[in-house]
Amino acid sequence: MKITGDYHIHTVYSDSKTKIEQVFSVSALRGLTDFATCDHSFRSYFVGATREKLKAQKAELKAGNSKGEQPKGLQSIEANILNFDGEIDVPCDLFSSLDMLSLGFHRFVTKGDGRDRKQFILKNGWTNSDDPELKRLNTAAFIKAIEKYPVDVLCHIGHRTKVEPKPLFECAASLGVHVELNEKHIETLEPMLDVALQCGVKFILGSDAHKAEKIGVFDRVSKAIEKYKIPYDKIVGVDLGLNVRKK
Ligand SMILES: [Zn+2]
Ligand SMILES: [Zn+2]
Repeated sequence: MKITGDYHIHTVYSDSKTKIEQVFSVSALRGLTDFATCDHSFRSYFVGATREKLKAQKAELKAGNSKGEQPKGLQSIEANILNFDGEIDVPCDLFSSLDMLSLGFHRFVTKGDGRDRKQFILKNGWTNSDDPELKRLNTAAFIKAIEKYPVDVLCHIGHRTKVEPKPLFECAASLGVHVELNEKHIETLEPMLDVALQCGVKFILGSDAHKAEKIGVFDRVSKAIEKYKIPYDKIVGVDLGLNVRKK
């Protein structure tokens, strides 16, 4: 299996020390043809995005891309899902300036209306609850989010938010939303991979690298791909081309 892309890389623009020029050089070293930066979004504690940061990052990516003979750098953002209504923390007017939109659950998000924290963020983020009703509500929240916003990637599904795989994957498959094979958290997706395959979803590779040396490294994900026999032509970053939704 030849890995050609990594679509979840953190940089100095959130909680990593990796500079954009290093993302280009390490990706090239690993033989990647494409990568996407995917830094934390607007309501992440301390490390959140700002319009200025996104603009500066985009300019650096553009400069790197103009050099040629390098992997192509795309800009995504790791949006936070905020509540059971599936709202996210990226202003809608910014969608068109991003190459991709990724979405995941994170517990370190700044306060919104009290309901976010108590019901959604706190219970999912801090109790590891197996409550079937919570699972149902989480599933509905992700479905609302991908129906409402042009999300391209569902990051680390199952990590701190338990979901019902079938309805979520059926919806993702019908909308063309990729299910991420996340190197850091693949274990939460693994029990759902058979269902994901049955639903016909597209997958995408994401190292979730917070250090330069982790870019393009997919040891755990590679094992899961072999174990669950995921066809290479179903995986962006292996043999499937990237197709993003209209922003
Ligand atoms: Zn994440
Ligand atoms: Zn991440």
